[in-house]
Amino acid sequence: MAKLELKDVRKSYGPVEVIKGIDLTIEDGEFCVFVGPSGCGKSTLLRMIAGLEDISDGTFEIDGNRMNDIAPAKRGIAMVFQSYALYPHLTVRENIAFGLKVRKTPKAEIDSLVNEAVTMLQLDKLTERYPRELSGGQRQRVAIGRAIVGHPETFLFDEPLSNLDAELRVHMRTQISELHDRLKRTMIYVTHDQVEAMTLADKIVLLRGGKIEQVGSPRDLYERPQNLFAAQFIGAPKMNIFELEGDFSALRDQLQLPADAQYCGIRPDSFDIVPEGEGILSATVRLVEYLGNACLVHAKVDDHDPIIIEQPVDTQLRFGSTISLSVTSAQIHIFAKDGDRIP
Ligand code: ADP
Ligand code: MG
Repeated sequence: MAKLELKDVRKSYGPVEVIKGIDLTIEDGEFCVFVGPSGCGKSTLLRMIAGLEDISDGTFEIDGNRMNDIAPAKRGIAMVFQSYALYPHLTVRENIAFGLKVRKTPKAEIDSLVNEAVTMLQLDKLTERYPRELSGGQRQRVAIGRAIVGHPETFLFDEPLSNLDAELRVHMRTQISELHDRLKRTMIYVTHDQVEAMTLADKIVLLRGGKIEQVGSPRDLYERPQNLFAAQFIGAPKMNIFELEGDFSALRDQLQLPADAQYCGIRPDSFDIVPEGEGILSATVRLVEYLGNACLVHAKVDDHDPIIIEQPVDTQLRFGSTISLSVTSAQIHIFAKDGDRIP
């Protein structure tokens, strides 16, 4: 069991506050992803949970017990880092067994735990190799193996796949998902990559500048982003945003938006191309990007930054085409002046 609770948790380095009051509950067995741009405090928050950084203020509890002053080794937590942190002079087997040896676990038990881990991670043929004889993905699996053998209640991952190439990242992502299904432990996974967040998470915690912008399921964040930041961070390509004062003010009437709406957001796949004169916007195509399963059309409305429209691969649109765009009202996101979602 490991239900994690953070209550107004803060972290300062000298006068600078980098974690600015986090309230969050992570349920037992949940796969929680911290996502946000570089420098927003993801690693710091994770390291505070692990006990590698002090908590300046607030309370962190596991199953109702205060953890602020409990040593890292006593929290039932194992952490996997981006850098793997393997011992180069130890074999795969010795690397995975290292922590157990330090804890003076009996040899027979070490053997059994390590064998279980290497089988689960498909490392059984590589146990006598040294880290330099392994690929990046294999090294990362050894790092995960080292976490597994301690049978922690909670696993923490800090950007564990960032050093791998794109194909391997997708593969390892599915392996981590399977690991969670199998072990049914609480996991917190840090990434700056919204695709990793969307694909892995039960619960996404979107962070910016040391604060939570939104917490919810991947679907919540995609379908009901609570503010402009969430709207533009989740989803690729990004949601198109139109400011309703100035050049796009006509949209307010055309889309029958409330008076307090200041921004209107439309995802690239929400636009329909309609006959001239029937749309809400008219735009000129600047670029058509072929993706294999779809095309991304970059089009300019007057002098504004291009908007992006997703179209089928067989689109006839070319540079210079003029298009008229419409959207159904259910697919419009609206935001107030302070960036918060309406309603
Ligand atoms: P992320 O993992 O989201 O990229 P970090 O948690 O590493 O972000 O950092 C959050 C903020 O805290 C950054 O602005 C970073 O410069 C600052 N920070 C991190 N560690 C320290 C430290 N030891 N001393 C001072 N500032 C730090
Ligand atoms: Mg980090």
